Amino acid sequence: MLQHSRIWFKASTGNWEIGSVQSILQDGSLICSSNDDEVLELAVKDIHPANPDILEGVDDLTKLSYLNEPSVLHDLKTRFEKDNIYTNAGPVLIALNPFKKIPLYSAERVQMYRDKVSKNFDPHVFAITDSACTALFRDGINQSVVISGESGAGKTETAKIAMQYIATFGGGRGVEDEILESNPLLEAFGNAKTLRNDNSSRFGKLIDIYFDDSGTISGAKIQTYLLEKSRVVYQSYGERSYHVFYQLCAGADRALRQKINLKLASDYQYLSRNGCLTIDAVDDAAQFRAMLNAMDRVRIPKNDQQRLFEMLAAVLWLGNISFHTAESENYSTMAVDEAARSVASLLGCQIDVLHTALCTRKINARGEVIIQQLTEAQAIDSRDALAKAIYSCLFEWLVEKINNSLDAGKACESKFISILDIYGFESFENNSFEQLCINYANERLQQFFNHHLFKIEQDEYSSEGIDWTKIEFVDNQECLDLIEKKPVGLITLLDEECSFPKATEASLALKLSEHLKGNSCFKAERSPGFTINHYAGEVTYGTSGFLEKNRDLLHVDLLELLGSCEHDLAKEFAAKLGGTGRLNGVDLQRRSVSTKFKNQLLNLMERLETTSPHFIRCVKPNNRQLRNVFDFDLVLQQLHCCGVLEVVRIARSGYPTRYSYEHFAQRYGFLLGQTKSRHNDYRNDSLLVLQKNSILPGAFQAGLSKLFFRPGQIGILEHLRTGTL
Ligand code: ADP
Ligand code: MG
Repeated sequence: MLQHSRIWFKASTGNWEIGSVQSILQDGSLICSSNDDEVLELAVKDIHPANPDILEGVDDLTKLSYLNEPSVLHDLKTRFEKDNIYTNAGPVLIALNPFKKIPLYSAERVQMYRDKVSKNFDPHVFAITDSACTALFRDGINQSVVISGESGAGKTETAKIAMQYIATFGGGRGVEDEILESNPLLEAFGNAKTLRNDNSSRFGKLIDIYFDDSGTISGAKIQTYLLEKSRVVYQSYGERSYHVFYQLCAGADRALRQKINLKLASDYQYLSRNGCLTIDAVDDAAQFRAMLNAMDRVRIPKNDQQRLFEMLAAVLWLGNISFHTAESENYSTMAVDEAARSVASLLGCQIDVLHTALCTRKINARGEVIIQQLTEAQAIDSRDALAKAIYSCLFEWLVEKINNSLDAGKACESKFISILDIYGFESFENNSFEQLCINYANERLQQFFNHHLFKIEQDEYSSEGIDWTKIEFVDNQECLDLIEKKPVGLITLLDEECSFPKATEASLALKLSEHLKGNSCFKAERSPGFTINHYAGEVTYGTSGFLEKNRDLLHVDLLELLGSCEHDLAKEFAAKLGGTGRLNGVDLQRRSVSTKFKNQLLNLMERLETTSPHFIRCVKPNNRQLRNVFDFDLVLQQLHCCGVLEVVRIARSGYPTRYSYEHFAQRYGFLLGQTKSRHNDYRNDSLLVLQKNSILPGAFQAGLSKLFFRPGQIGILEHLRTGTL
C-alpha cells in the first residue's frame, strides 16, 4: 500500500467508503483520511485498494485493477444507478433486475446488436445471445445460454429476452411466434405469486431452439424439471397457487362456467384459504384471454382446451370435498354435497366410487387384501394427493402438447441453442426435500460453470502462448459425491430407507448420519435432519416429509379410481402414473423422485457438455421488488452464492487485466518520451514502458497479441500517467 493510494474502508455505518492513505505507521497500520476529511487509523486487513477514476463504472469487472468486493460492488452500483443493468464479469454476464421498464429491448435495439453497428456495445442479453447465434453458424457447435440466480432475480424475463433475440435472428417460418407464445402458457400453469416474486416459476425449464442450415428456426423442444406440486393444495400466507386457476375463475365465459360448474376463486378452498386471491396490477381475466390466445397459437385444439378446463375445475372442487367422522367412530365419510357431485361429474365417475377411493385403502397383508377405513386426516391426504397428481399430469400433458406443436421431432438432428432457466440456490429457515433437490441442481450447474470457465481461461493462456501455473478454484466434487455417489450417497440412502414401510424421519436422519459423517460437507443435526455445506453456504434440512415426497406414491385406490373414470385425461393419467403407483412395487428406487431428478440432471449436464455455454447470472438488487434500490449486502451475498466472485477470483489468481499492444502503447507510450518508436511498433513500445517503469516481470506476461497483467498493475501505471506517484 502506497501513500496517497485510494482505498475502501468499512465506515462505522457498516458501509464501504472511499478514503486515502496518509501515512504508514511502524507497526504496519495506516493513517487514512475519509472523503469528509475524517482521519482514521486502520489495520491493513480492514482496507482494500480502490480503483483509479478511469475505471469508474467499467462495463467488465475484469477491467478493474483491483477485484476486491467493495470495488466490484461499487462498479455494479455505479452502473445500476444509470440503468446500466448489465455488466460483464469476464465471460459471464451479470444482469441486475431493475424492477421497472427500461427501454433496452426494442426491435431497433435487437437489430443494432444483430447488425453489430458498433464493436463497443454495452453488455446486454442481446449481445451474449448474439455471440451464441453467431458461434452456432461460425463454428458449427451447438450453443447454450445458462441462466441462474435467486428467485425473483430476473431469470425468466432474461430467458424471454434471449428468446426474443433468437426469434428475430432466426425468424421466418412463423414457428418462432409459437415458441414465444409457449411462454405465457407455461407461466399460467407453472408460475405463481410467492413472497419473493409475483410471477415465480415453480419448475425448471430447458428449451432447445432448432435451426436449419439456412439459419432459420425450424422448431423447438421444451423439457421441464420438477414442478412444485404441493402448491396446488397448500400455499404459505400471502402466496397463491398457480396463476391458471385464478385466471380461469376470473375470465371464463358463461358457457364454460356452466359446463364445468365454475365459481369464483374465493369459493374454492385451495385458492382462498390463505387470503391471497389477486396480484397488484395484474388482471387475471385479461390474462385468461391471453392464455386462451396462446393456446390457439400453439394449436391446442378446442376440445383439448375444454378437457383441460374440466380437469382444472375437478382439482378445484376436490379441495372443497369435506369429510366427517361420526361420533364414537374413528373413520370418516365423505360429505355428498356440491363439491363431491361436481368432482364425480367432471371426472366421470360414480359418487360412491369416489367415496370409496378417498375414504378407504386396500392393504395387502401377507397375500390377503384388507380394506382399511381412513381417518379424516388420512382422507384429506388422499384427496390432496389426488389433486396434486392430476395437476402435475396436466402440466406434463400440456408440455407435451406444446412440444407436438413446436414439432422438433424432425428437427432434432439439426443445430440448436438451448436456454436454461432453472431455480436458483435456496436457503430458508426451514428447508425440506424440495430445497435439497434445487440445491443439488445448483451444485451440478456450479460444477459445470467452474469447469467451463476454468477451461476458457486455460485456452486463452495457451492460445496466447502464456506461461502460467494451474489456477485453483473451489471444487464442489465432494458435495456432489455426498449427494449422488453410489452406493453410499444421500440419494441412494434415501431411496433405501423409502423401501422400508416402517421408516421414519428419525430413522432416515440416523441412517444418513451413520453413513455420511465421513464427508466433510455433511453434518448431522439433533432435530431429525442434517446440514450440507454447499458451495454457496450451509443449509440445514429437516427430514420431515422426505420419505413421502421421495416415494411420491399415489395409492392404488386412487389410481384405480382415475383409471375407471370416463374422462379421457383421467384414464390417460392413470395409465401414466400406473408404473409408479404399485404399492408393493419392487421398482421403487428407480422411480423415486430424487433418482428421477438425478437422472434428469445428469442428462441435462451431458447435453450442456456438448454445447458451448454462455452464462448469465441474474442478481436481485433488493428483496422488496423495488426500483432504484441497491442493497450492498444482498448483492454481495448473491455474487458469492452464484459464484461470480469465484470467477473473479479465478481471474485474479491469473492475469485479469488484458490490453492489446496497440491500446496499451497508445495510452502509456508517451511515458517513453524520445525513446518511443517512430513506426508505432506497439509491442516494442509497450514492453519498453513496462521495463522502464519497473513493472516486475512476474507482474505481467506478454502474449502473442495482448499484454496480461496481474491485479493492481494498471493502477500503478495510471499513477505514473497522471503524475500522482
Ligand atoms: P426469476 O425467474 O429469477 O424468479 P423473474 O424473471 O420472474 O425472476 O423476474 C421477476 C420480476 O422482476 C419480473 O416479473 C419483472 O417484474 C422484473 N424484471 C426482471 N427482469 C427485468 C427486466 N430486464 N426489466 C424489467 N423488469 C424485470
Ligand atoms: Mg422464473
